[in-house]
Amino acid sequence: MKYINTRDESNPINSSEAIKNGLAPGGGLYMPQSLPFYGDIFDRLIDTNYAFRASEILSYYLTDYLKDDLTADCKTAYSQNKFTSDDKIAPVVNYNSNISILELFHGPTSAFKDMALQLMPHLVSRALPMNGENRTMYILTATSGDTGKAALEGFRDVPQVKINVFYPAEGVSYIQKLQMATQEGNNVNVCAVKGNFDDTQNGVKKIFGDKEISKKCSENGIFLSSANSINWGRLAPQIVYYVSAYCDLIKNKVIKNGDKINVCVPTGNFGNILAAYLAKRSGLPIDKFICASNTNNILTDFFNSGVYDIKRIFHTTISPSMDILISSNLERLLYLAAGCEATSDYMKHLKENGIYKVPDSIRGIFSDIYGMWCGEEDTKAEIKKAYNEYGYLCDPHTAVGLNCARRYIEKSGDTRPMLTVSTASPYKFASSVYYALTDNIFLDEFKNISSLASFAKIKVPAPLEAISKKEIRFDPDIAIETDEMADAALKFILN
Ligand SMILES: *Cc1c(COP(=O)(O)O)cnc(C)c1O
Repeated sequence: MKYINTRDESNPINSSEAIKNGLAPGGGLYMPQSLPFYGDIFDRLIDTNYAFRASEILSYYLTDYLKDDLTADCKTAYSQNKFTSDDKIAPVVNYNSNISILELFHGPTSAFKDMALQLMPHLVSRALPMNGENRTMYILTATSGDTGKAALEGFRDVPQVKINVFYPAEGVSYIQKLQMATQEGNNVNVCAVKGNFDDTQNGVKKIFGDKEISKKCSENGIFLSSANSINWGRLAPQIVYYVSAYCDLIKNKVIKNGDKINVCVPTGNFGNILAAYLAKRSGLPIDKFICASNTNNILTDFFNSGVYDIKRIFHTTISPSMDILISSNLERLLYLAAGCEATSDYMKHLKENGIYKVPDSIRGIFSDIYGMWCGEEDTKAEIKKAYNEYGYLCDPHTAVGLNCARRYIEKSGDTRPMLTVSTASPYKFASSVYYALTDNIFLDEFKNISSLASFAKIKVPAPLEAISKKEIRFDPDIAIETDEMADAALKFILN
């Protein structure tokens, strides 16, 4: 299977090259030239573990990798060494009579980004020799909080790779900040940036487009790449857990093989939900998607009207990993619906005018995606409702999803089994969760964590528990301007 650029189909490449490159030339994203079809594989996967399911599904997409290599890498990535336990890689838990929850936060950094970023470094390490690449891969990543830590943890001390993460100084939670500030490894760097996530992401995109920088890099045997969800190496592993969840729903007798489910995903950069959409296009029986946003509800407006308009206020919310106005992976959906030429056009409009409009004829192609959003007060109320009525402790991102899933079911009367995705451990956002549940809050975040743990009687993930004792390596109180990002990136790599 070959991969093409969403903005220019003329030069198809292998998956390993797409993963090595990250971003396609001209700012486009890599997509499979045609999507594979799974056929009836679900029965065969029901009694297998996550690592096995992962290598089976990935082998449909990463066809230039050897199957044995994928099997070995999935075994290493999705193991008890990295995740809470072997049977807790991506468990599906029963929430109520309509809703099941797919928990994706049992990895080393307690957010769903681990699902891809524990595997992706293995895919990268194989991609470099597969493409005769001797240069150092320098990964620049902008993060709204969770990608950064998961990428640092995944790529730390990986040979031939260095990584620099930029995060918005005022746009991430205290624990997210501390997770990054205490990161270990000899090939990692972390910078706080003044501004919001979009400013930070634009800063990174600017570095990628800077001819001077790419010249300096190539003179020094370095090339730039990305670990954001624009990289196919992030998206492909995310497809796996939707297939895995479907198998678990059959196993748990919630559905029968062939039954359709609905899927609700708390969304920011549109990567996670796009993975579910791709799974459907390859034959996973999904009926509707609920694209759940927080107060930054640009995607809700887009799915309702076809207009994508970034000229609006950016809100800082208690679900910071979804505080995004430019959802990069939407480009891949547009490509599937409208093709290369139209996609290039939309992206050009977005860049020049901050807006584009998709005609109803195109929007109709993805009418199975519903946009919904949930405000701050409703997010807190949903955290409380989930706990009081169903005994489920959820983080604010997950609460946004649960709120939208519940309202969708109430409004539509569609009682098809709903799979809603839990994207982070509640302890990563302990102050917000503890406050929503008790109306109490402490200045010391570790006091919020321990109070939440004794309130809910659920164990704090070990890496979060240990973080207060770790040495600060990257001072979170020093934030650079966005126009200093390029210098910071060069200074780290050239030293
Ligand atoms: C990244 C993230 C999201 C948003 O996922 P996208 O793939 O960017 O849409 C939601 N919740 C949490 C906790 C996240 O870390």
